[in-house]
Amino acid sequence: MDTEFDRQHIWHPYTSTIDPIPCYPVKGAEGLELILEDGTRLLDGMSSWWAAIHGYNHPVLNEAVESQLKQMSHVMFGGITHQPAIALCKKLVAMTAEPLEKVFLCDSGSISVEVALKMALQYWHALGRPKDKFLTLRHGYHGDSFAAMSVTDPDNSMHSLYKGFLPEHIFAQSPESGFFDAWNEDDISDFAQKLEQNRDRIAAVILEPIVQGAGGMRIYHPTYLRRVRELCDEHNVLLICDEIATGFGRTGKLFAYEHAEITPDILCLGKALTGGYMTLAATITTSHVADTVCSGKAGCFMHGPTFMANPLACAVANASLELLTNQNWQQKVHSIENHLSTLLPPLKNHHAVKDVRWLGAIGVVETHNNVDVAEIQKVFVKEKVWIRPFGRLIYIMPPFDMEEHHLSALVRAIQKGVEHCFGE
Ligand SMILES: *Cc1c(COP(=O)(O)O)cnc(C)c1O
Repeated sequence: MDTEFDRQHIWHPYTSTIDPIPCYPVKGAEGLELILEDGTRLLDGMSSWWAAIHGYNHPVLNEAVESQLKQMSHVMFGGITHQPAIALCKKLVAMTAEPLEKVFLCDSGSISVEVALKMALQYWHALGRPKDKFLTLRHGYHGDSFAAMSVTDPDNSMHSLYKGFLPEHIFAQSPESGFFDAWNEDDISDFAQKLEQNRDRIAAVILEPIVQGAGGMRIYHPTYLRRVRELCDEHNVLLICDEIATGFGRTGKLFAYEHAEITPDILCLGKALTGGYMTLAATITTSHVADTVCSGKAGCFMHGPTFMANPLACAVANASLELLTNQNWQQKVHSIENHLSTLLPPLKNHHAVKDVRWLGAIGVVETHNNVDVAEIQKVFVKEKVWIRPFGRLIYIMPPFDMEEHHLSALVRAIQKGVEHCFGE
């Protein structure tokens, strides 16, 4: 592979053109493994960023794409509908909480967040009470497009770079009580105060339920989410749950909001929706929100991407959701959680490790200082695993088929990587 051309001309996520971190050439992927150009097989701890929950090159998913390809790859969705979209939306309506029944399909997670925010704004406009603010949490992550970024942690996403252009929203303290800790009622006070003070301007609260992902891998107490729902009801503010990372079983529930037994008004899904095969996302809302939006001045919801409901993506999403629900995913995820709960705690004995935490098929090792990504990845590749840390976080969210020996290999590699970077 011409990796020199890559280094000179191709931008990778969050990389510098001046001093790019080396990229590993991958020529294939199969089951739980990525295959490097030289044939080395790496056990994948990342599911390609939460997406490949069934692993790679899966015969059922391949077949879904191949047979759809022979029918049609793409048709516009304006004035046209098709079976892959209908079948997928039927599944999504059935899987999600009962009031969620209007599905908007879009291209990527960030766009599904844009769509959710626009729905909330159009909703209040239609009611004759326009609102212009969102309330969200510190350490959140909702995507890289501008509106999504405006509700992402201001320090992590460097809002200072876009000052004057980026809308300014309201950030509450994120919860301190961990998922398995005792609940501390003080955790909600900053959120409650900010909501009460700004209720007339706040169109919606947007947050990642239970697990804050790319903004810090924080796993928080379900009572926080329950309080948020209660306060949104009390102050008549919509609640948007961004389950782009947590959806489809990752946290041990099909959707993380189930841990708190609440229902959002708007739900964003993406990442694992197609089993990691293609880009596709969905924003799902209630009939009440949807119909209110459409009763407004515009008479419709003002959004419609070119590749909306791409049939190839819908077909593979259908197959992925069938695979998920036809097998015992809950048992698989719980068994991953059990293994992580015994494998991770010993890492806390290392002086460089600040904390370890886990939930469902998510494991996190937080160090005191930033990890040298290029350096630690050398160790990972030598250990034949693929893990990509950021900042002080080394984390895994493996495909659901991983067994104990796979997980111990991942955790052993993390241990060796930490020892290599921070000393024994
Ligand atoms: C990844 C992610 C997004 C953005 O999705 P893209 O497909 O990368 O645009 C939004 N919200 C959360 C919680 C995510 O994890």
